[in-house]
This record gives sequence, C-alpha cells and structure tokens, in this order.
Amino acid sequence: MSAKSKHVRVVIRTRPTSAFAQDVISFGVDKKSLHIHIPKNAEWGFINNQQENWDFKFDNILHNASQEVVYDECGSSIVRSLLDGYNGTVMAYGQTGAGKTFTMTGATENYKHRGLIPRAISHVFHEIAERPTLAFTVRISYLEVYNEQMVDLLATLSDGERSDALTVVEEKTGSTYVKGLTVQIANNEEEALNLLFEGETNRSISEHQLNKNSTRYGGFRVDTSHCIFTIYVESRSRVESSEKVMISKLNLVDLAGSERLSKTETKGKSLKEAMYINRSLTYLEQVIIALSDKKREHIPFRQSKMTHVLRDALGGNCNTLMIANIWGEQEHIEETISTLRFATRMMCV
Ligand code: ADP
Ligand code: MG
Repeated sequence: MSAKSKHVRVVIRTRPTSAFAQDVISFGVDKKSLHIHIPKNAEWGFINNQQENWDFKFDNILHNASQEVVYDECGSSIVRSLLDGYNGTVMAYGQTGAGKTFTMTGATENYKHRGLIPRAISHVFHEIAERPTLAFTVRISYLEVYNEQMVDLLATLSDGERSDALTVVEEKTGSTYVKGLTVQIANNEEEALNLLFEGETNRSISEHQLNKNSTRYGGFRVDTSHCIFTIYVESRSRVESSEKVMISKLNLVDLAGSERLSKTETKGKSLKEAMYINRSLTYLEQVIIALSDKKREHIPFRQSKMTHVLRDALGGNCNTLMIANIWGEQEHIEETISTLRFATRMMCV
C-alpha cells in the first residue's frame, strides 16, 4: 500500500487476437506498463496527430491471460475479504467486443472458459466450508440498468410482467438497497449458478422486451446496459451465542460498452441509449474521483442509478477493482487509448 490509501485497483486485460498491433502496443517488462506508439502519418486514420507516444502504468496488465489467471488476480482476494465482512465491487469496462462479458460471465458451455462470476460463486462456497465455526447465508440478486431503468433479472420476464417498480432506497446508515429487487437465497454452488443462468436468460429476454437496438459494433451487438450481479453474505457465530451478524456484499458489474458516439453511428433511439451510457460512465468516474478526495463531503451518488446502487460498495473500506478490457487490434487503437485514459484516471484515485 502506498502512503495514500488507494481506493481503486486497475487491471488491464487484453482480448487475445492474432492481429494484435504489436508495432503499436508494447508492454514493459514489469508487466504493469504499456506503451503506445503511433507512427507519424499513420495511414490508418488516427485523428489526434498531436501525440504519437503514450505511456501508461497500471496495477497489473494481463496480456492473453487465461480465465484462471484473471480470477487469481482480480477475484480471489476480494472474495476472501467478502467472507471477512468487506464489501467489494469488480467492474469490467471497455468497448463492445473487448471481452467484458467474457471476463465476467465467460463461456458457460466451456468449464475452462467460465468467467469471474461463476468462479467467485464456487470460491465463496469453498471458503464457507473452511469456516465451520460460522453459519453463513448466501443470497444473490441480478440487476440490469438500461437507460436509467432498472430490470430485475431474477424476476420472471417471459410473461410480459415487468418489474417497473424498482427503486433505490437509502437507509439511515448511508447504505442503499433496491426496493422490489429479488434477492434469492442460494444454499450451495449449484443453486447460485442456476440463478446466474436464469439471469443470463432473462438478460436476453429483456433485450427484446425493452426493444433495445441491434446496432452492431466491431461485429458484436452493442452492450447497451449495465448488469450488476451481487453476492450477499451474512454470517453469525455457531459457537458464541452472540447476536452479532456480519453482512457484506460483492457487486460484479458488466458495464455497457464505452465506445464513443461518433463510432457507433447511431441515430434516434440508439442515440438516446448512447447518451445514457456515456452519461452513466461519466457519473461513475465522477463518483470514484470524488471518493478519493478526503475533503469532499458531497459524493454525487444520486446522479445515476448505477452509482446509487453501488453506493456502499465503492471506495472507503471497500475493495474496488476495475478491469479495463482492450482489443489490441490496429483498427481499435483509438478506443483502446480512450479506455486506457479512463483507466488511468481511475488509477490516480
Ligand atoms: P463485450 O462484452 O466487451 O462486448 P465479449 O465478452 O462479448 O465482449 O467478447 C466478444 C467476443 O470475443 C466473444 O465471442 C468472446 O467469447 C470473445 N472473447 C473475448 N475475450 C476473450 C478471451 N480473453 N479469450 C477468448 N475469447 C474471448
Ligand atoms: Mg458484453
């Protein structure tokens, strides 16, 4: 730990590609720094010709890393702290197609490729088994935020019945919860995984019901919503008769695509979506930056649904980690630079 306590850890993950722009992007031997060099008169149309070299430094860079390595680096210690009573938030940030959903959820049909959420679930129950003197209750919720509307991904969405009634409620203690959101008990790993799968299914149903656009970007459907999978852990002693209960939660967040407006070539409805996305990512940044300023009394949590929901699991005593996903191909270099700059602003916090 540095003298100034750091609130946010930032890790870069590259999406493996055979077309990796190795002349443009290079990594330091420390595995923490990254250098970008844009040759002058680059023919591939990089607009900002004022700067051709960029240097970045992060907590870690995971280049072509496996899901297992990503979990060890980004999930493992946060899950252990969760069971010790600390809140946490892990967010995947990046342009559509860069690997956010792969990082968080992964390829569920391939065990080796399962992402951070299923691995965290498995780890939570293994850790519980190691603590026989404590009685644990694990609960799960899965929330989607689309255009500042909240959708309960664990409620039945298929019958057209929508949970429009979700509201963020602030408690006197400063913590927040979403009133109306399904929070389901999971007695074991399998039950928790089933809730994840149920939520994933509803995520695609909600896509149709909310009539989201099917704009494609880089060959992929644009991520227009933020999805927050939350694991709540409650524990009490089995040996002492004290009433003391420890409660903590971990938010695993798949953020909406960060690509900029001009690139998505959007119009009308999707323009509105893009505005919501840009705004909510900016508010997220503002909240994280405000949290780092000890003198700041007012933290603008209420500006957006997502920051309001995450309120008690960002900053302070919480473990906050951002995984910035980049797609290291030449054609994505502008977005990569923009992602790395956003990630750098988080690093300075
Ligand atoms: P995003 O959610 O950021 O839009 P995805 O996670 O959907 O991006 O990734 C886009 C595609 O690339 C998917 O087909 C995904 O399986 C694949 N992909 C992303 N990252 C990796 C990786 N680290 N290893 C293998 N495939 C990946
Ligand atoms: Mg995605």
